[in-house]
Amino acid sequence: MAHALTLNAGSSSLKFGYFHLDTDAGEPDARIVGLVERIGQGQRAHMRAKGPDGAVLIDKEFGRNHVSDHGTALERVVAFLRDRRPDATLSAVGHRVVHGGPDFDAPVELTDKVIKRLAEFEPLAPLHQPHNLSGVRAALELFPDAVQVACFDTAFHRNHPWVNDTFAIPRRFYDEGVRRYGFHGLSYEYISSKLAEIAPHLHMGRTIVAHLGNGASMCGLMGGRSVASSMGFTALDGLPMGTRCGQLDPGVLLYMLQTEGMGADEIQNVLYRESGLLGLSELSNDMRTLEAAAKENERAREAISYFVFRIRRELGALAAALGGVSTLVFCGGIGENSVHIREKVCEGMGWLGMEIDEGRNLRSEQIISTDLSRVRVLVIPTNEELVIARAARDMLAQKEETAA
Ligand code: ADP
Repeated sequence: MAHALTLNAGSSSLKFGYFHLDTDAGEPDARIVGLVERIGQGQRAHMRAKGPDGAVLIDKEFGRNHVSDHGTALERVVAFLRDRRPDATLSAVGHRVVHGGPDFDAPVELTDKVIKRLAEFEPLAPLHQPHNLSGVRAALELFPDAVQVACFDTAFHRNHPWVNDTFAIPRRFYDEGVRRYGFHGLSYEYISSKLAEIAPHLHMGRTIVAHLGNGASMCGLMGGRSVASSMGFTALDGLPMGTRCGQLDPGVLLYMLQTEGMGADEIQNVLYRESGLLGLSELSNDMRTLEAAAKENERAREAISYFVFRIRRELGALAAALGGVSTLVFCGGIGENSVHIREKVCEGMGWLGMEIDEGRNLRSEQIISTDLSRVRVLVIPTNEELVIARAARDMLAQKEETAA
């Protein structure tokens, strides 16, 4: 029995999974999934993990500054795993890496050369890529004998038609790598595989997936493959997010530069950390907080309205790009849990053949559309960790085959 660790490093969090692998292509078996949150200077980090039956294995807050970076967070995770599974040796570590640039359209083994290339994409995903790579470096030190595999959020979108891959700026920029990459690919890959399993006839058709979490994007799929995404060159484009602006007229950047005299770092900070739901509500980036405050707080209401409005616009745009839609899937923390957002997104969408059932939506059932709705509307909890574990399993199988 081989064992794999999956790592998914966000700006201040580290999600992890411990899997049993059957390299003869059986589905990886998640034995432990968890996360460390609030990593960073001045913070009290928190680690939580569950077993396969949902039992809580750890729920622990660390002292202030005890987990000040991702390397330390990984050490804590490893100490916890070693405590639970003292005999287990890891055969593989799978990493979520946000940006694979124009080069990578599939998982790849992390060699020195690959890591060096991936570091060149750090400016394209400044909130994620540096953390992803520091996780990779730390894991290489901790597990020098394990196969290290990178799984890219951009890879699932690499075969977009050219019109969805480019911007209308001079061609040399495209050649330099300024392209519409698209993100959340691991989530979309999981949703596509799950749809193939539970509803193969829907999987064959035209699907729009709304991944609505702290980061949010939408993707159009044809026969299970991505053909269009709301996100572009960086993870800033498309829908507004917790703290990111979403689609923005580039003239606004010129205004910030020329009229406000802002510097590049300042603008980056505004667009990545101070915008989106937080910027509009001036209250919080967290949808639960905004929904709770919406009754009394007009700005919280407006932030939610803007979020919903942009999702609806993107829904129409993707339906047009696909030439119709047979399935809409909601996933991500908001998509999986917010009854209100799902209801508002689908309200008045009868013209698109979409109607949701109030009771099914309220219970967050797998299918929330009415029986008469031409478009099936589903809620599918996403599972990026499983996609990473599958890639680790396949890489091990490939290496075994080459060695045989
Ligand atoms: P990330 O992109 O960091 O992985 P998640 O997918 O975990 O984010 O989503 C986090 C978002 O989901 C937050 O805005 C949170 O408020 C929202 N969320 C989680 N549960 C609920 C809920 N029951 N109702 C509304 N929003 C929720």
